[in-house]
Amino acid sequence: MNVVELIARKRDGGILATDEIAWLLQSYTSGAVPDYQMAAMAMAIFLNGLERSELVEWTRAMLHSGEVLDFSSVDAPKVDKHSTGGVGDKVSIPLAPMVAACGVAIPMMSGRGLGHTGGTLDKLESIPGFTTGLNAERFRSVLDTCGLVLAGQSETLVPADRKLYALRDATATVESIPLIASSIMSKKLAEDLDGLVLDVKVGGGAFMKSLARAKSLASTMVEIGKAYGVRTVALLTAMDSPLGKAIGNANEIIESIEVLSGGGPQDLIEVTLALGVEMLAVAGIESDPAKARALLEKARHNGSALEVFARVVKAQGGDASVVESPDRVLPKAPLRTVVKAEAGGFIQAMDALKVGVAAMRLGAGRERKEDTIDPAVGINLAAKPGDQIDQDQPVMELMYRHPARLEEALAVLEGAVRIGEEPPEKEQLIIERLD
Ligand code: URA
Repeated sequence: MNVVELIARKRDGGILATDEIAWLLQSYTSGAVPDYQMAAMAMAIFLNGLERSELVEWTRAMLHSGEVLDFSSVDAPKVDKHSTGGVGDKVSIPLAPMVAACGVAIPMMSGRGLGHTGGTLDKLESIPGFTTGLNAERFRSVLDTCGLVLAGQSETLVPADRKLYALRDATATVESIPLIASSIMSKKLAEDLDGLVLDVKVGGGAFMKSLARAKSLASTMVEIGKAYGVRTVALLTAMDSPLGKAIGNANEIIESIEVLSGGGPQDLIEVTLALGVEMLAVAGIESDPAKARALLEKARHNGSALEVFARVVKAQGGDASVVESPDRVLPKAPLRTVVKAEAGGFIQAMDALKVGVAAMRLGAGRERKEDTIDPAVGINLAAKPGDQIDQDQPVMELMYRHPARLEEALAVLEGAVRIGEEPPEKEQLIIERLD
């Protein structure tokens, strides 16, 4: 086959055949097709898209570039959840144990934070000893004993994506819906799932700023999942203000434990339950939303979800006493400062992007992939949109280590909180469901 001919065809809006896509991705993974030719192909796809048949084959070729897991001997239905990323989005941490406590096996593979969005692996690693880099044998053994494993993606899974994503990052071709959808779905399909629930975040603090693009990404991913016989549902959820009250790492573990103990902030509970209801449905455990919700609520009120979480923490080398005494076990930042309301009134809006960038500047996130994060620093909100506050009442607390970083974070937070006289319209957290 001739790569130049394939690039030219895609450039001119033509269609690639199944064997051509398989050959191209295989040759790229092995190094036979160089980066510069794949960069041209990525740009041609960015500009002209992929037809449905191409998209399914592209995903298949990505998926088969590496190891495909086999959990066929696991009796329970296997379901995972994926979020496109947001600010304060710790949902996976309370959600996975709640759903596992209801009888679903969850081989969860998560990612790290980048830019203003946080990552589940970074948050979990703030628990002393907790390891997310598991080999296949340990991954399987934690799943078997706990019904849940919370780990990073292994090196052997979808190697084509690692290479292609780095190339897209350097060639302004990340924001292509078919390339994003096939990248995410190839990694999820390699987990040998029965069901998958996608949380596609929409709004100022999300990867997808517009509803139209978020919907297009969600429906593309759902279509790929279905083509592979995996029951796939997507929820479009709001990401204009941070989710919950903790933005960081160790503080997000504290908030997750609150949810698992029957408490926690209302918006976080609502998104967690909505996704959990879908997970129980795709797992075939409970298709009635009200009954599914009751099962999940029971799991977080009767201690069973917290117990699953403690077992997983222990099995993955972490200090399981974190569930009883998170304040004692988790790292703490040495310095704190409070940001106060400039005026009295109702909080109209809290800019998720600004809060996420401020947390990153404090050291809770990564500006570049190679940066290390500080698990102890971050932001705790004292008030949320809709709350009524007085002038000089605390709005948020910044936990930090270096005064220079605090200055940077405070500069970013300029204008992040809008206060007005009238209560704002209630934010619609669950915007749409696609299946
Ligand atoms: N996340 C992924 O895994 N892949 C993309 O292409 C974009 C976001």
